[in-house]
Amino acid sequence: MTDDIIGRYESVSKSYGGLTVVKDLDLDIRRGEFLSLLGPSGSGKTTTLMMLAGLQSPSSGHIFLNGRPIDGIPPHRRNIGVVFQNYALFPHMTIAENLAYPLKARRLPKPEIARRVQRGLEMVKLHAFAQRRPTELSGGQQQRVALARALVFEPSVVLLDEPLGALDRQLRETMQLELKQLHRETGVTMVYVTHDQAEAMTMSDRVAVFNDGKLLQCAPPREIYDRPESAFVAEFVGENNRLVGTIVASGEDGCTVKTDTGLVIRSRPQPGLAVGASVFVYLRPERVLVGPAAASCENRYVVEVADAIFLGDHTRLRIDLPGNPNFTVKHNFFGDARPPGPADRIEFGWTTRAPQVVAT
Ligand code: ADP
Ligand code: MG
Repeated sequence: MTDDIIGRYESVSKSYGGLTVVKDLDLDIRRGEFLSLLGPSGSGKTTTLMMLAGLQSPSSGHIFLNGRPIDGIPPHRRNIGVVFQNYALFPHMTIAENLAYPLKARRLPKPEIARRVQRGLEMVKLHAFAQRRPTELSGGQQQRVALARALVFEPSVVLLDEPLGALDRQLRETMQLELKQLHRETGVTMVYVTHDQAEAMTMSDRVAVFNDGKLLQCAPPREIYDRPESAFVAEFVGENNRLVGTIVASGEDGCTVKTDTGLVIRSRPQPGLAVGASVFVYLRPERVLVGPAAASCENRYVVEVADAIFLGDHTRLRIDLPGNPNFTVKHNFFGDARPPGPADRIEFGWTTRAPQVVAT
């Protein structure tokens, strides 16, 4: 394990009774990164986090922190900060006392505790609230206290389990920015659980996508978006059009898919997929080009527009494509004298780099 890897799951599984909820997980956590665990409810994200925190233990496999196995180390000795959706502040203590709690538990000298509490309060801009109790703060403020409390003892990793889930949308977006800023300022490694793909995409250095207890892909947001390796990831993250087909040619110069409805689609090389493989071809609505822009595309079709919805910054076209009656295109027609509407025939297409081809 190298120095830039702070944590590692090695063949980790977790079962409750006969049900395996985390399946043979291999995952590295890089020092200083913001790593999101993304997946639908019940996909095993919280369980994965709890095992690192020491609040659950693996049924098999091992977890390492700073190069050492942590199997026998109790939660409070792992030097990990945790923040949950329900803030779990101590209601009978003031904000300052809440922040001091983990420092007292670690028997830090009094002046050092005072210094760190002060700094923690400033970090989340709550120094004016030091003597209040949690119930006298708003939800967002309480969550900032929880965050500061997870950071004051300078943990090597902070684990956050849907910490913004209970906040309304606007506050959630503000808190996302604050959290990212805290991450930059402190440089602390953060592992963040969310079921919200937009949140994971905007905040993370890397996103680990889970489904049904399995880690499907772990990569930077851009790669997750542009190069999903499975149908699940392609459909869970962002919007995608799906076509079903078979590989009819595959080589170093590219790959050709014939859809079940007879469309021929050329894509970049797909080394993992051989002729005869059943595949899904995904196309992001914004990667589909319309009109003159499509002229130079290797994949080009003329079709009838089924529907056009003007949304200000772009127009959504629905195209009744053979094999996908709801094929969606996002395009802006700035400068066009008359944007296309229902029943217009248009030329559209995409480059060979646009299709994401994955095994069914
Ligand atoms: P997520 O955080 O992705 O929603 P969880 O890790 O909480 O998923 O849960 C994964 C699965 O494990 C779910 O099916 C859940 O019901 C089950 N599970 C979680 N904790 C327990 C437990 N203590 N006992 C039994 N089943 C559990
Ligand atoms: Mg959960």
